[in-house]
Amino acid sequence: MNAAQKDRAPRFEAHLIDRLPPVRGRLTENAPLDRVTWFRVGGPAEVLFKPADREDLIAFLEAKPAEVPVTLLGVGSNLLVRDGGVPGVVIRLGRDFARLSAEEGYVLAAGAGALDLNVAKAAQLAGIAGLEFFCGVPGTLGGALRMNAGAYGAETKDVLIEAEAVDAKGGLHRVTVDELGMSYRHSDAPADWIFISARLQGEAGEPDEIARRMGEIQRQREDSQPIRTRTGGSTFKNPPGHKAWELVDRAGCRGLTVGGAQVSEKHCNFLINRGEASAADIEALGEEVRRRVKEESGIALEWEIKRIGVPLDESPAETAGGAA
Ligand SMILES: Cc1cc2nc3c(=O)[nH]c(=O)nc-3n(C[C@H](O)[C@H](O)[C@H](O)COP(=O)(O)OP(=O)(O)OC[C@H]3O[C@@H](n4cnc5c(N)ncnc54)[C@H](O)[C@@H]3O)c2cc1C
Repeated sequence: MNAAQKDRAPRFEAHLIDRLPPVRGRLTENAPLDRVTWFRVGGPAEVLFKPADREDLIAFLEAKPAEVPVTLLGVGSNLLVRDGGVPGVVIRLGRDFARLSAEEGYVLAAGAGALDLNVAKAAQLAGIAGLEFFCGVPGTLGGALRMNAGAYGAETKDVLIEAEAVDAKGGLHRVTVDELGMSYRHSDAPADWIFISARLQGEAGEPDEIARRMGEIQRQREDSQPIRTRTGGSTFKNPPGHKAWELVDRAGCRGLTVGGAQVSEKHCNFLINRGEASAADIEALGEEVRRRVKEESGIALEWEIKRIGVPLDESPAETAGGAA
């Protein structure tokens, strides 16, 4: 966040935190989210909750006032937080949700807060092949379950046996992959479900050979994606029979800018924050790309990036520096 943005940073003043149940984890008021998402933009969470463990999460959801909205955040690698912040409670799963352990039959049990990279590494060390594609996805397993993340010819649904999730009232659900209705970058899981763990099926593999394939995947990513920039990954889903990047390119949008946001020159289905962008710049650029693609090809691109929170001018939060 630059100095001008800091001046305009909104703060929620309603002290929602006073109406929330006690927890063993951490509750933080007005927690900045621009530091924890890949785009490095956006306003604060009214309250950020990091549960100590699953019992803490469940007890909190059971006791919290029903009308308080809850939003789940992984590591924000497919997410745009709007500039007015996120009203209600934002939950991030901490260390206790990142456990990984190999089970018999080439199964990996994983907490939903684990980074996909660590899922791939744990499987490699245990000689479990077939999970190496996770090293190409820079999110958490929870995000991968929600988005059916995939890379290099494999998707989460191909290796998922079952997952555990908690609903908005604290109810625990254990579901098989078939019950989740997963398809391209989509799962039918109810919107209020918070994934907390999963079991993944691999097959026998040589750790050295798995490590070699992971190295290959990471090299290919490095060559084709702007992975060292502030970005949100693939912006739009590939429409059936088309590649989103080709449609964006054909509509003349490669390098297009709005404020501090730009369509990546390297991979034009990625939007990047050149350093000074607001969330509004990034969203406006995405909408301009959609408009141009529709005009050029007749195809309506669908956002893959999840957009959460409210714009600055609709935020119930007070703005520190006065006018936005
Ligand atoms: C450089 C780059 C490259 C990428 N490459 C790929 C790729 O090759 N393939 C691919 O599929 N994606 C890719 N992505 C996108 C992104 O990494 C994936 O979508 C990832 O699964 C998002 O995980 P996350 O933890 O960052 O989720 P977030 O971005 O934080 O959240 C995304 C969505 O998941 C939900 N969510 C997160 N955790 C949970 C949970 N525990 N329970 C319920 N819902 C949850 C959020 O509420 C939100 O709706 C890339 C992103 C970047 C920045």
